[in-house]
Amino acid sequence: MSTASIVSDRIRRIKLSPSVAARAIIADLREQGREIIDLTIGEPDFSTPAHIIDAAKRAMDAGQTKYPTSQGTTALRRAAQARIKEDVGQDYPIAQIIVSTGAKQVIFNALGATLNDGDEVIIPAPFWVSYPDMVVVNGGVPVAVATTPEQQYKLTPEALEAAITPRTKWLMMNSPSNPTGALYTREDLEGLAEVLKRHPQVWLMTDDIYARLNFTGEPTVHPVQVAPELAARTLIINGVSKAYAMTGWRIGYGAGPADLIKAMAVLQSQSTSGACSISQAAAVEALSGPQDCVREFAGIFRQRRDAAVERLSQVPGLKVVVPDGAFYVFPDCNGLLGKTTPDGKVLENDTDVTHYLLREAGVAVIDGHAYGAPGTFRLSFAASLDDIEKGCEGIRAACARLS
Ligand code: PMP
Repeated sequence: MSTASIVSDRIRRIKLSPSVAARAIIADLREQGREIIDLTIGEPDFSTPAHIIDAAKRAMDAGQTKYPTSQGTTALRRAAQARIKEDVGQDYPIAQIIVSTGAKQVIFNALGATLNDGDEVIIPAPFWVSYPDMVVVNGGVPVAVATTPEQQYKLTPEALEAAITPRTKWLMMNSPSNPTGALYTREDLEGLAEVLKRHPQVWLMTDDIYARLNFTGEPTVHPVQVAPELAARTLIINGVSKAYAMTGWRIGYGAGPADLIKAMAVLQSQSTSGACSISQAAAVEALSGPQDCVREFAGIFRQRRDAAVERLSQVPGLKVVVPDGAFYVFPDCNGLLGKTTPDGKVLENDTDVTHYLLREAGVAVIDGHAYGAPGTFRLSFAASLDDIEKGCEGIRAACARLS
């Protein structure tokens, strides 16, 4: 006798993240004794700096083990306030700042607190895989807008204008981007801001989680620095995961207009009651303590970026856009499609390519269609220089064996 599934229609419309799926395949192959170079990882491979860990230990010893204020401790919201002022030039009162369980939950809270059924959210593609599913699960409609390698994977004002409808509620931006490393310049942002100014119903959500991993030598520019009037409908999102190697601590923060932050705080008060008190104490130290670790991490990522780009650019069939930030390179592999592997299989799409690289070279990368960009793959350089060099050499050699 069959019974109806317990699983809701809402959840059936979304899926497990492809990096989780990739991890399972890699674990399987390693179990079978295969040596795999894993270039799928979405987190820094560094340890959390010692001064941050010490702050967490001190917080535990001092008894900071009770429920924190749901919206975030005053100390952490003050630290976030100072950082946003320095990074973005906006001064938010702490009532307009919320701390959540990772930047991911800030995004989820924002969508949950604002979307009515059928509201549209514009997401430039390639995008971080979680954006569309987070929109869907909150009743919205993701509207992916394609960008091309020729445009360095950046949304143009024309494409934005064409995607806006009366149902558009949000534009989501992520600069530098996961998965492309695309970084919007002041000039890029001026063009987009002009469009947004013509459409006052559209709010702007900026996921700035990689903002401090910028390899250009210039600070990352934020849209509200270019067009301060947009601040009245902008949600700024950041966190400690990527810049301070603190992915497991699960701390992110958001700053924006009072009504929005209040609604997000209500949702959070009825779900998690706020982020872990000990992690919040650690994040205070991260944001307000010595910042040399961030510069050091960014410098190492830049070296690795150079190593990966130099090698991948020489592979016939791959088109590589140099990433200006984050820790991913996103080659277009359309030039490999239609080629035949040594065992006679024709590569038909990006999944065939990534499976081939895994089998033939023992190199794991993630197929790009999951990021809204078929015919691409994402290679993470959050790995040792040695693994990056060996991995890229393996990719080159495997591609050379295609006919
Ligand atoms: N935004 C982007 C673009 C990301 O790549 C990630 C992590 N993969 C997050 C947000 C999530 O960050 P957090 O760990 O703070 O939830």
